[in-house]
Amino acid sequence: VTGGIAIERNTPLAPRTTLRLGGAAEHFCAPEDEAGVGEALAWADAHALPVTVLGGGSNVVVSDAGLRGLVMGVNLRGTDWQEHGRVTRVTVSAGEPWDAFVAEAVARGLAGVECLAGIPGLVGAAPIQNVGAYGQEVAECVVEVRALDRTDGRVYSLATEACAFGYRDSAFKRDPARWVVLAVTFELRRDGAPKVAYDELARALEARGAAPTLAAVRETVLSLRRAKSMVIDPADENRHSAGSFFVNPMVTLSEAERVVEAAVRTGLVACTDDVPRWPAPDGRVKLAAGWLVERAGFAKGSRRGAVGVSSRHALALVHHGGGTSAALLALAREVRDRVRARFGVTLVPEPVFLGFGGDPLA
Ligand SMILES: Cc1cc2nc3c(=O)[nH]c(=O)nc-3n(C[C@H](O)[C@H](O)[C@H](O)COP(=O)(O)OP(=O)(O)OC[C@H]3O[C@@H](n4cnc5c(N)ncnc54)[C@H](O)[C@@H]3O)c2cc1C
Repeated sequence: VTGGIAIERNTPLAPRTTLRLGGAAEHFCAPEDEAGVGEALAWADAHALPVTVLGGGSNVVVSDAGLRGLVMGVNLRGTDWQEHGRVTRVTVSAGEPWDAFVAEAVARGLAGVECLAGIPGLVGAAPIQNVGAYGQEVAECVVEVRALDRTDGRVYSLATEACAFGYRDSAFKRDPARWVVLAVTFELRRDGAPKVAYDELARALEARGAAPTLAAVRETVLSLRRAKSMVIDPADENRHSAGSFFVNPMVTLSEAERVVEAAVRTGLVACTDDVPRWPAPDGRVKLAAGWLVERAGFAKGSRRGAVGVSSRHALALVHHGGGTSAALLALAREVRDRVRARFGVTLVPEPVFLGFGGDPLA
């Protein structure tokens, strides 16, 4: 025990990740307030140990050897709702579960996060990769991130611009050793108008015959996600995953044309329209990573021993129990290499690799 916080030794991390893989943390703690976070960091500094922040463990792959130094959960709780005219500003502590926050916002008739229902993990991690789904991303409503800067030990309120959000990216993600997110402030609209900007969501809402209310959008997103094993469901055979294993590649127009040409030439599609792709605002083209994986020869449900491809979504790699992170990464490498050989596109992994040193897919 140091100050008010308990620091454990040799804490297994696999149970703290959704993949259920990886070794132990040399040291582990989960402070419940900001003072505790400061104490834990000071303790690690005093012992010259590296610090890794862990949220709900739904976007990480931990090495089988485990993690040296201190792994710190941020168990800060509390939510503060403040009405400001047409909007509500809500400040949510980093340790609050993300999906429960979305449910509460929708129940209060607040718009801005309804399409992000069902994403596992904690609020503190949402800005890290700018979580997004079904045409919405968290950058659209984050107005402030309260974060501790490990370079000077001070706490800052970062405005949206300082977060430098991009597609599955942010200033926090680009500089992983620097920031500990303590709380996030969202600005949610009181007009109750949901965002329906994604074809699949619009079609599913229409099929339900439901008026597109916030609640209907949330429910529809959850049912679409369930059908792809993209919610955490203990009864689902694909339950141990990190969600999408690769981000959707953003390529130039000519690269996209090459992919389409390769697909037509090899008889994978009958016509060019059959290759899913979307124009990105910057003139590039977003390709569907899951489609590339499947067409590169990895059928849904295919297995390599204890790991495999989700039976409901080719983009998720899953662990069936008794496996290793090394086996999962071997499969990820195989997927990446075959997609590259077939389509000339190099898939980039979405989860954060912890404890590997260097590029584990190299
Ligand atoms: C079934 C499934 C479906 C998913 N669907 C989606 C989806 O639709 N869209 C999407 O964007 N993601 C999705 N994900 C990925 C994941 O849920 C999100 O990225 C989520 O925000 C991660 O939260 P976490 O608390 O589990 O973070 P962790 O996995 O614990 O951590 C992820 C990264 O953030 C860092 N981090 C965590 N908390 C903090 C903090 N307080 N301060 C500083 N750094 C921190 C960690 O160090 C690590 O680098 C899915 C995952 C699963 C398993």
